[in-house]
Amino acid sequence: MKKTVFIVMTTICLCACTDKKSSTDSELKTPAIADFNYKVDAFADMEILRYRVPEIEKLTTRQKELLYYLNEAALQGRDILYDQNGKYNLCIRRTLENIYTNFKGDKNSHDFKAFELYLKRIWVSNGIHHHYGNHKFVPEFSQDFLIGEIKKLPETAFEKTELNQDELVSLIVPVIFDPAIAATRLNQASDADPITTSASNYYENVNRQEVETFYNNMKKPNEETPVSYGLNSKLVKENGKIFEKIYKIGGLYSVTIEKIVYWLQKAAAVAENEQQESVIEKLVEYYRSGDLKKFDEYSIAWVADTLSHIDFINGFIETYGDPMGMKASWEANVNFKNTEATKRTEIISTNAQWFENNSPTDKQFKKETVKGIAAKVINVSIIGGDSYPTTPIGINLPNSNWIRAVHGSKSVTIENITEAYDQASQGNGFAEEFVWSETELNLINKYKFITDNLHTDLHECLGHGSGKLLQGVDPDALQSYGATIEEARADLFGLYFIADPKMVELGLLPNDEAYKAEYYSFFMNGLLTQQTRIEIGKNIEEAHMRNRQLIARYVFEKSAADKAVELKKRDGKTFVVINDYNKARQYIGELLAEIQRIKSTGDFNAARNIVETYAVKLDIVLHKEIIERYAKLNIAPYKGFVNPVYTPVFDADNNFIDLKIDYTENFAEQHLRYSRDYSDLPSINN
Ligand code: ZN
Repeated sequence: MKKTVFIVMTTICLCACTDKKSSTDSELKTPAIADFNYKVDAFADMEILRYRVPEIEKLTTRQKELLYYLNEAALQGRDILYDQNGKYNLCIRRTLENIYTNFKGDKNSHDFKAFELYLKRIWVSNGIHHHYGNHKFVPEFSQDFLIGEIKKLPETAFEKTELNQDELVSLIVPVIFDPAIAATRLNQASDADPITTSASNYYENVNRQEVETFYNNMKKPNEETPVSYGLNSKLVKENGKIFEKIYKIGGLYSVTIEKIVYWLQKAAAVAENEQQESVIEKLVEYYRSGDLKKFDEYSIAWVADTLSHIDFINGFIETYGDPMGMKASWEANVNFKNTEATKRTEIISTNAQWFENNSPTDKQFKKETVKGIAAKVINVSIIGGDSYPTTPIGINLPNSNWIRAVHGSKSVTIENITEAYDQASQGNGFAEEFVWSETELNLINKYKFITDNLHTDLHECLGHGSGKLLQGVDPDALQSYGATIEEARADLFGLYFIADPKMVELGLLPNDEAYKAEYYSFFMNGLLTQQTRIEIGKNIEEAHMRNRQLIARYVFEKSAADKAVELKKRDGKTFVVINDYNKARQYIGELLAEIQRIKSTGDFNAARNIVETYAVKLDIVLHKEIIERYAKLNIAPYKGFVNPVYTPVFDADNNFIDLKIDYTENFAEQHLRYSRDYSDLPSINN
């Protein structure tokens, strides 16, 4: 489970591309914050940033070598995600990249500009659908332009698409231009069959009923240690027979998985310790066999590895992209511990049982013994797959409920990413526009960076790790509402406790005022400003956004009589005003208890009811007002990142001796390089 950034305060200048080179000398030396240029590019609703990798120079030579091999493994799986996000994504991306690099015409023409924008949006979303909103991008270049450019491509351009010009045109032009084809990647409208109406590529020729029957037959009743059924496969019907195509060596995506394994094996040979070596070897065994029991063994070993300085995620992990919430997209990151900041999360995890005992949930849903929650603050060295170019800022894994209950989980806050967000947002006018008064503004300026990081720690380290399912409850019972309920549970846990006097007692917050910065920001975001990410007339689709509106609207509506949280108008503008922070916290506690009950008992109807009531719909008048105010600020609602470029140095005998880092690559250069160096899958995978 992951936490995405929930407030966006970043300046962009849409008229001038901010793609200046940062001042590094390509050595492994971290530039100071003040000298670092965080801004790379800005287009559509995106701003692209770069992040520093502090303290990388302090790694030993062997650690640098390990980091390098894991980085390579993390970059290999990019194509898998494109294919999972839609059957024609790879074919479209390759064709468009070919046109982009071979283009000989007027680069200032409307068609080319619109074409370039469309390609950049594909790179952001790993496919033709918006990474958050799931809707298909509308191209603003003409169909004739695209067909004309395909016809001009040299023969070599068709090698990877495995199709000739005419086949290519008849295949991809309708997918790009016809609004009725592949309209949404993930259809969560409650009245439609989510399988047959979603363009994501986890199922083929099957409907919801067939999927449910297939997996219900596979699941054994009252299993204590169930595998994550369906996690690493595509479910298809061919010749009347329904079966899984497993992602593994020799199975679906084999050529790419072979490369991932190649780099993982090199990493295993220079692991920091035996535990870490065994973690990597178990992952390799799983990639070879596709056996989900092996994945559980890997996950258990990974949770137990708390001593290694370097760590990584690499695999089929999160299920947000599957309409049934079972199948995982491929993602990766490589990271190492931020030792100083980790002291904060160690305090939290040491006190985990106290938080569990004192949470406002019903006793029967609490964990009697909270298993070791290993919480740390990290810096990433690379992000890949579904964590790239947009990345979560906090992660808690593994996702398997029984493994979490028996073996615990590992939770991280990614501080070099939150640093980049924070630095890029300085002075953009966002808070001044949307915050009610100087009082709240002062709180935010003083405490927001620490309370944001602390809320992420609490969300990941305690929230996702808290509570338990009652015996016999199917972990997939909440289906497409499961992700929203789970994220709400984690956010509520964090919100409830960030206002607890325990925070000051433990030295995590300086005083009993600081948490108000988080409360105010959370309600402002959930009730108002996150709507800037949604087009007028559309619903909220993404699980984290749904969760935030769910919490904010629930508390707001509960406050109808006492006005603990209210919306006030001034000069025709709507603001959040919190009149009673204690009362707001009380409602948060009540909602946490109810959300935990829904999760613990697998109450699908209650999940659907609470999500559909509070989390999905927007008030169109208010939505328009927020969009208009926001538009005047010229701020991009979404952020993505480029990775640094790493170059290994070998001596004459081919021994690894050093790793160089360079921060200057721009967005298009990076994607074209990745498509050249890390792209082996066929364009259409069956
Ligand atoms: Zn989360």
